[in-house]
Amino acid sequence: MAIATINPATGETVKTFTATDDTGVRALIGKAHTQWLSYRHSAFEERASYMRRSADIFESEADQAAKLMTTEMGKTLKSARAEALKCVRGMRYYADHAAELLADEVLANAADVGASKALARYQPLGPVLAVMPWNFPMWQVMRFAAPALMAGNVGLLKHASNVPQCALFLEDVFRRGGFPEGCFQTLLIGSRQVEQVLRDPRVVAATLTGSEPAGRSVASICGDEVKHTVMELGGSDAFVVMPSADIDEAVATAVTARTQNNGQSCIAAKRFIVHTDIYETFSAKFVSQVEALKVGDPFDPSTDVGPLATAQGRVEIEELVNDARDHGASVLCGGRRLDGPGWYYAPTVVTGITRDARLYLEEAFGPVASLYRASDIDECLQIANATPFGLGSNAWTNDGAEQERFIAELEAGQVFINGMTVSLPELPFGGIKRSGYGRELSAHGIREFCNLKTVWIK
Ligand code: NAP
Repeated sequence: MAIATINPATGETVKTFTATDDTGVRALIGKAHTQWLSYRHSAFEERASYMRRSADIFESEADQAAKLMTTEMGKTLKSARAEALKCVRGMRYYADHAAELLADEVLANAADVGASKALARYQPLGPVLAVMPWNFPMWQVMRFAAPALMAGNVGLLKHASNVPQCALFLEDVFRRGGFPEGCFQTLLIGSRQVEQVLRDPRVVAATLTGSEPAGRSVASICGDEVKHTVMELGGSDAFVVMPSADIDEAVATAVTARTQNNGQSCIAAKRFIVHTDIYETFSAKFVSQVEALKVGDPFDPSTDVGPLATAQGRVEIEELVNDARDHGASVLCGGRRLDGPGWYYAPTVVTGITRDARLYLEEAFGPVASLYRASDIDECLQIANATPFGLGSNAWTNDGAEQERFIAELEAGQVFINGMTVSLPELPFGGIKRSGYGRELSAHGIREFCNLKTVWIK
């Protein structure tokens, strides 16, 4: 895949980049490693001062960052701006909290283990490779970079080939914020060169956010090299609605959850499972609100849904919907590409999806909602869990016992009750099953790339 900015709203190639060759990549890894040998000894206050300055720069340039995101991957400008500000929040969170999250864990009664003092200490690991996707081109990177840098690691970013300017912007922000040369570097490389980086002994671990095939490839190389990995992969999450829910709020949230980021979010609700008693009401309101969405130029402030990020992404979503139709599903709205330039696809609701349709099990990475009817809570749970993925499910009910059942039985890394799944610096983020393993954000995210060293002193 060429490394290039191609505007998804027009299909126009805006800027192309030459990939760094293998020798250049080795040199950048060398720079990261050399820097890490001294950076790992820096104090939390020093790292925090770089991070706060970087956050201030990012905040003052949020509009510029937003324009880059919208130009490179087509998200609406308003959501791109919100993403930029979320990055700033994440940076400040880790600047403020890293020292406390990584404080020594001192054993209260060291005499029990025959010591005068015993503790566990979090120490940085070294250069970590982050393989990142285009869909949240700044936030995905930041939720790795902010904790990793605050922990004393250094970062190498292999960003998706269609968002090179976002990657270079982030590198520049950290450099201008004061992080020493080599602490955070963008590698302008295609996926073919990832193996070279992973096999380099100076790179100690990797995190990947992206598709299952990419995750499998990176995880198996790291398995071979015995290097730690975090995998944030796909999702096909459930959004269950029970009769006691506030239906209007559930419908409005369902529309946002499915179509935000032009339908291209790993944690987007993708399968809407509605109790039969309220199915007709929910379905009618949901379809009418999806149909009312304004699709168009992502730079226009009144636009709700922009284009898909790539031509191939649109082909894949089209194939999924057509396959569902061929297997007997009904398309309640949308179900077609839009005329004109750019990779637009009409927001779509599909129902009557049979088990042999690809849409039943595969992730729809675009504005396509699958609607299911369930006769009771058992069937809701059965449909919700009938997926190879398990990222972030939603359940809507005001019945306390039902809430507890969903919390206990939904197979997912996260469960949101009466709200939309979101990622926040304070809460752990990650999945189970084929959605991956490991956690980002919160204390758990910053500890992923640390050596938890046991210290025992006689
Ligand atoms: P993708 O094709 O897997 O790309 C993600 C990254 O992996 C890109 O940098 C890509 O580089 C690289 N890559 C692709 N194949 C690779 C390989 N064989 N070896 C090494 N690197 C490789 O994913 P996408 O289609 O861009 O993104 C959509 C997927 O990401 C969806 O499944 C979505 O659910 C998932 N996602 C998950 C999360 C989460 O937190 N769980 C968040 C966002 C997205 P190139 O661009 O150069 O190919």
